[in-house]
Amino acid sequence: MDFEMSPAARAMTDRAEAFFQARILPRHRDWHQAVVREGRPAPFLPALQDEARAQGLWNLALPLLRDDEPGTRLSNLEFAPVAEILGRLPWGSQVFNCQAPDVPNMAMLQALATPAQREEWLNPLLEGKIRSAYAMTEPDTASSDATNIATRIDFGTGPDAGTITLNGRKWFATGGAHPDCKFLIVMGVSDPEASRTERQSMVIVPTDTPGLTLERELSFMGWRDHVAPIGEFTLRDVRVPVENLIGARGQGFRGAQVRLGPARIHHCMRCVGMAEMLVAQMIARARERSTFGQSVIDYDTVQGWIAEARVEIEMVRLFVHKAAAMVDAAGGQGGGRDVWRQVSMIKIATPRMLQTIADRAVQVFGAMGGVEETLIHHAWSYARWFRIGDGPDEVHLRQIFRTEPAPDWSIADCPYIAHPALSHATEGALP
Ligand SMILES: Cc1cc2nc3c(=O)[nH]c(=O)nc-3n(C[C@H](O)[C@H](O)[C@H](O)COP(=O)(O)OP(=O)(O)OC[C@H]3O[C@@H](n4cnc5c(N)ncnc54)[C@H](O)[C@@H]3O)c2cc1C
Repeated sequence: MDFEMSPAARAMTDRAEAFFQARILPRHRDWHQAVVREGRPAPFLPALQDEARAQGLWNLALPLLRDDEPGTRLSNLEFAPVAEILGRLPWGSQVFNCQAPDVPNMAMLQALATPAQREEWLNPLLEGKIRSAYAMTEPDTASSDATNIATRIDFGTGPDAGTITLNGRKWFATGGAHPDCKFLIVMGVSDPEASRTERQSMVIVPTDTPGLTLERELSFMGWRDHVAPIGEFTLRDVRVPVENLIGARGQGFRGAQVRLGPARIHHCMRCVGMAEMLVAQMIARARERSTFGQSVIDYDTVQGWIAEARVEIEMVRLFVHKAAAMVDAAGGQGGGRDVWRQVSMIKIATPRMLQTIADRAVQVFGAMGGVEETLIHHAWSYARWFRIGDGPDEVHLRQIFRTEPAPDWSIADCPYIAHPALSHATEGALP
């Protein structure tokens, strides 16, 4: 498999790095002050987005971007190093309109939206004018099994034909609590009598629809997603036109898969960037402190942690690039069983790597490592939630096990065991 970047992809990465260093990173303290401390939008962000867009650094995470859609089309593999750069900061991806959950939502709408839905919802997202959220998880059902989802999606009949009514509760809808979030993509049960994977539909619910209530913004272990604040919602007799159905009725489970591939792979790419950023900070911090007459960087333990981090990052980066190349080979989005298996595997390996490195970074920083202002807090929280969000580890491990090729021999016939302790031949002879 060839992971060598094309000259065009290398040039794009260089441009993204230059833009990040010159225009994004120097504003990080201003962003933190406005968004995190004062809870208001960063005033400079729209101008920065315009600047990025003018330089072709826009919508880089959509490999199936059409010629008439704004932005620059990159393959998944080409996007990987750019995503790493942007992932170093919580808000980096937003500058290039590459942030979650809007990118996976856009990818799904590209695949499934009607022309009218494209016009009303996809195009403003591509322009960065609005934000969106995906609402599958429910407080009352074990949502790692999407077939458990209980929110009702009822298609009207008679005089009500043409209307869909939704009732239920949703939580952990990332981005749903952002003031610019204009619609939720709600997954619910439309056909309870159908088979397990054909009961669900997905519907676009504008956030100003009567009956839809944002109950509160959620944090996860004290961490708030400032770029895409997480919302909890109730839906009480929420009525939308039947034209808001995404894809075919009863095909919501299948349709949701379209967004999961990009969602997972992009989070992994960002995690690699965060891990790089943490290693750089660990070195800087350890170099500047001394204890018991010795620089902290000179302790074997700290050197070992940094070296271990390097090994882990390189392994995961290659792993993620392989997944990206496989998704590209499968057409840029989705793919068959092998592709899903690969994406599940990086989804397991990547947050573990980041969480481990973040944990060591806390240790190197001492008390400062746990302060919210450091990006260690952000990286650790990101890694931890990513082991649950988009499918908990255990669900992915189960899938990986199920697709693990099994040998066609038993231990008694195992060609690798020269002297079996117990074989069929000896078994019968035992007293
Ligand atoms: C920060 C954050 C952001 C999120 N963003 C979104 C979003 O934008 N939209 C959205 O819809 N959801 C979102 N989620 C929700 C997330 O997808 C769910 O939390 C996840 O699918 C698990 O569902 P659950 O919380 O109901 O856990 P449950 O389904 O109750 O599962 C609990 C635990 O059971 C165990 N388990 C489950 N299945 C198996 C199995 N097959 N084998 C072994 N053990 C198993 C696992 O340990 C699992 O963690 C987000 C979550 C977080 C934390």
